[in-house]
Amino acid sequence: MIASDNHYDVIVIGSGMGALSCASILSQQYHKKVLVLERHFKLGGFTHIFKRKGKYVWDVGLHYVGGMGAGEMSRAVFDYVTGGGVTWQEMPDVYDVFVYPDLTFKARKGGREMKADLIAQFPGEAAGIERYFSDVMKVARWFGRHYMAQSLPGVLTPLGAALRYPGRRLALTTTGEYLDRHLSDPRLKAILVSQLGDYGLPPSQSAFTIHAMIASHYFKGGYYPVGGSKTIADSVVPLVEQHGGQLLVNHEVQEVLIQNGRAVGVKVREIKGEEYIEKEYFADAVVSNAGAYLTYTRLLPADYPLSFRREVETYTPGVSTVTAYLGFKDDPRTLGLQGENYWLFSSYDHDRMFRERNRLWEGNAVAAYLSFPSLKNPLARAATAEIIGFLDYDFFRQWAGEPWQKRSADYEAVKERICEALIDFCEARLPGLRSMIDYRELSTPLSTEHFTAHREGNVYGLPAIPQRYRHSWLGTRTPVKNLYLTGADAGVHGIVGALMSGVFTAGTLMGAPHHIMKIFAAARRFRTDRS
Ligand SMILES: Cc1cc2nc3c(=O)[nH]c(=O)nc-3n(C[C@H](O)[C@H](O)[C@H](O)COP(=O)(O)OP(=O)(O)OC[C@H]3O[C@@H](n4cnc5c(N)ncnc54)[C@H](O)[C@@H]3O)c2cc1C
Repeated sequence: MIASDNHYDVIVIGSGMGALSCASILSQQYHKKVLVLERHFKLGGFTHIFKRKGKYVWDVGLHYVGGMGAGEMSRAVFDYVTGGGVTWQEMPDVYDVFVYPDLTFKARKGGREMKADLIAQFPGEAAGIERYFSDVMKVARWFGRHYMAQSLPGVLTPLGAALRYPGRRLALTTTGEYLDRHLSDPRLKAILVSQLGDYGLPPSQSAFTIHAMIASHYFKGGYYPVGGSKTIADSVVPLVEQHGGQLLVNHEVQEVLIQNGRAVGVKVREIKGEEYIEKEYFADAVVSNAGAYLTYTRLLPADYPLSFRREVETYTPGVSTVTAYLGFKDDPRTLGLQGENYWLFSSYDHDRMFRERNRLWEGNAVAAYLSFPSLKNPLARAATAEIIGFLDYDFFRQWAGEPWQKRSADYEAVKERICEALIDFCEARLPGLRSMIDYRELSTPLSTEHFTAHREGNVYGLPAIPQRYRHSWLGTRTPVKNLYLTGADAGVHGIVGALMSGVFTAGTLMGAPHHIMKIFAAARRFRTDRS
């Protein structure tokens, strides 16, 4: 049944951080009537929370965010996008703890402090450490120019190339090559990439630019949204609605409608229990937050001529994860914890650990990320933790056809084995955790795929290998007129990465580059008006 032919200024497919940011900016700054269509029954994409036993609450894809200090540009943009509706709780000065077999390093707030601590521990490598911190900042700035270049219209391609050229070689080397060139001690090199779980690739594969973006992102410490990440969507909804827009859940876009080579709308399936209602919506522009893979291989008509279709189809999917969600009967502060995150490793060789990540399937963890959301959120009513490990989708493929929460007993048994392995691994390094557990539940790559539709449950979009930054088809623009990308694949993943994609996509849609600047100016004005 074709139910409606509503017309909007802009349709946004998906409601992740990038979508919410883009929709909010287009509504507030350009008075656009925006329709956001989300296939899940909750808004927010990876920025949503869930609750068990009426009191244990966890975030799905937000554990800490950098750049939320009062004077920072990313904070100004966040406040502008959410109308100041999100309050940020600062984490302790030591926000990340890297635990190796015979060495623990505490990452202190402030890049200078971290650098001093590293030099104190590895005095023979002082020059290399100084150089590393300087290069990380250089390469993070390169990414800003690369992003701007990607957003330029075709006629300005030579300007884009000129923007990208300086520093490109350094940015697109691998992290491993960079570290091997400038540092010697394997323990130091390991410490510097301890947050690789934040981008999901080992040093031999990750582009130095993604490493630099993530490392520098946290130099000034970590923050957590009071009340959890749901406050983001809660704040954006009224801003979009004020301008005539709507945000609809249980609406899965099936296809982007193309007429005369232009995106003109979407074909949608509204999910009503066991039933589906088909609808069409029309707009002057369509923005996809569904990721490059889904957008180019599923949402565009199969016969739409795309020179790079095969390349996207065969792109290695990004990393997938399992998460053990724990509810505690006691307060983890009794173990001396204050809300810092723990990155726990069985070796200094990150490439080897990454190769061996699937040992978790047999019940042997080699690395894990452990964090305590309730210690970061002053509104939490009960103590919680989560443990995350990498594990490939392939192991779970056999259950992909079974319905969520009704999968067979052998799936549940596998989940139990993996959950135990993650808890054992953490208990061996932070004794006392296991005895506090009151509730536990494991999510798998099937859960991620079920809720986000991301290919094989990948969590960070297309992998951040050097090649990724050479594709002209990745960015806010697409080859289809009036169709744009936003979110992780439009620029960089992460909460702030996706937030910024909203700025670049909205600016591109309005006719970048000066609109991108105008959005940043509006964010700055918003900050000034509030202070
Ligand atoms: C376990 C985990 C931990 C993380 N921890 C952190 C962290 O601590 N800090 C940090 O900065 N980042 C973290 N991230 C990364 C961060 O959450 C993401 O990079 C970011 O939220 C991605 O935003 P996005 O805009 O790309 O959209 P996504 O959040 O990926 O949302 C895309 C949305 O599109 C919807 N969609 C897809 N197809 C359709 C369709 N056909 N029709 C309608 N809707 C559709 C999906 O349902 C989804 O809601 C984490 C991610 C994960 C998974």
